[in-house]
Amino acid sequence: AGLSAPPSVLVAATEALGEHGALVGGLAAALDDELPLAARDGGFVRAGYSTPLDDQRALRDSSRQHIAGLQARYAEETGIASLKVKHNNVLGYFVELGASHAERLMEVGKEAAAERYGLIHRQTMANAVRFTTVELSELDDAIARAGERALALEIEVFEALVADVLALSEEIARAARALAELDVAAGLAELAVRARYVRPTLSEAPVFRIRGGRHPVVEAVLDDGPGAFVANDCDLSGTPAGEAGAAGGGRLWLVTGPNMAGKSTFLRQNALIAILAQIGAFVPADAAEIGVVDRLFSRVGAADDLARGRSTFMVEMVETAAILNQAGPRALVILDEIGRGTATFDGLSIAWATVEHLHETNRCRTLFATHFHELTRLAARLPELSCHTMRVKEWNDDIVFLHEVGPGAADRSYGIHVGKLAGLPGAVVGRAEEVLHLLEAGDQAGALTRLAEDLPLFQAAAAAGAANPAPAADPLRALLAGADPDTLTPRDALDLIYRLKAVLDG
Ligand code: ATP
Repeated sequence: AGLSAPPSVLVAATEALGEHGALVGGLAAALDDELPLAARDGGFVRAGYSTPLDDQRALRDSSRQHIAGLQARYAEETGIASLKVKHNNVLGYFVELGASHAERLMEVGKEAAAERYGLIHRQTMANAVRFTTVELSELDDAIARAGERALALEIEVFEALVADVLALSEEIARAARALAELDVAAGLAELAVRARYVRPTLSEAPVFRIRGGRHPVVEAVLDDGPGAFVANDCDLSGTPAGEAGAAGGGRLWLVTGPNMAGKSTFLRQNALIAILAQIGAFVPADAAEIGVVDRLFSRVGAADDLARGRSTFMVEMVETAAILNQAGPRALVILDEIGRGTATFDGLSIAWATVEHLHETNRCRTLFATHFHELTRLAARLPELSCHTMRVKEWNDDIVFLHEVGPGAADRSYGIHVGKLAGLPGAVVGRAEEVLHLLEAGDQAGALTRLAEDLPLFQAAAAAGAANPAPAADPLRALLAGADPDTLTPRDALDLIYRLKAVLDG
């Protein structure tokens, strides 16, 4: 929008396309509209392109017509309407007669038949007898010769075309590359218009200001449906030198919030916006100002690399180490949870020290999502650290995820709530709530001893069962649980549907 001249990359790409009219015209003139898969058998040169080729083809085709004429004549002469002229690779063209007709003809002896009609006996089969004639053999030869010559001429044309193309191979490769660039640019431009992206401002200063940022993929999946994507701001520009207090938010954002509230989405969308901006694309936001990022680091998700001898936690630590050892002041780092795969206090300690190191030593722009709410206390000590949280609304006994990022810290994770949504058995949910209450009441060591001594799971289950009877075993669920979609054949799947239906119908 508002561009007075096309960007120089587009101008360069358009120039690199070059002029290929002569080659394209040559190919179009030589080649038929419908082409065979292989050049081997010919049939690809356009009629009218080569006179010698057209002549050979005409000869071949007129001979074929001639054969049709011969069939009619033989049928008339012999008085056998069902007489056919056929072709195979052994006999070439031959006359075929039904066995009874042939018998009648040959009553006078094979020689006589030959004399009378020029038929030369070649083969007797169960239901038919085959003859050749001198005329047929001659035509056969003529057709084969014309066909061979036509093919040779076509191959000559083909080789000449190949040579023309090879002579221009560099120009063609350059044009292909330019087309690819234009394709990417056009694709991004179309996306920008269709999905309301904006042109980001890039700068040398280590700023990062996104207004109304969105996740390009999650947004596309949600589309404009009822749960449409909630845009969020992000400002990692930090405090300008000399100003006290982080106004827009510090350089390092600690993002807390319940499970499923949208932390990962928020982290990733900002990293994607930075990448899109730096490849020259518009970005999914209302406005974006981005200081050039020299390296982007992400530590997200839990994956293991067992084949190479690394557990999930080891992978997490290796990735964290790489970030802490390499990220500089121009880097952008997103860290989605660290220290989750080990004992609580170990994990918290590592996360704590990592935040301090990122703040003091790496000094990079960072988004750090965590469930260790204790970390938010660091805000009092680290001036560039600011706390942000995903808003939720508690409603009756439920929580509603608003997917909005706001200042502040979450006080709890609602993990048990999400577990319930995911289908943990009622007894486990009930018991987990009890344990949580005890732990939150302080004096962890004492609480744990008590938990271990009494309140066994069964008691909680009994209590939960009384208040909230366990759902009866559900045969539909059992059937579905036993099916592995990856190994079902279409037939098995159909069977399964019949069985499910049978259960449903009682
Ligand atoms: P966890 O702590 O369990 O990893 P999370 O807080 O990282 O959870 P996400 O995985 O980011 O949560 O988001 C969960 C789901 O919420 C997403 O799959 C998406 O459907 C929805 N969601 C996330 N962000 C938004 C948003 N801004 N607008 C609308 N829906 C969103």
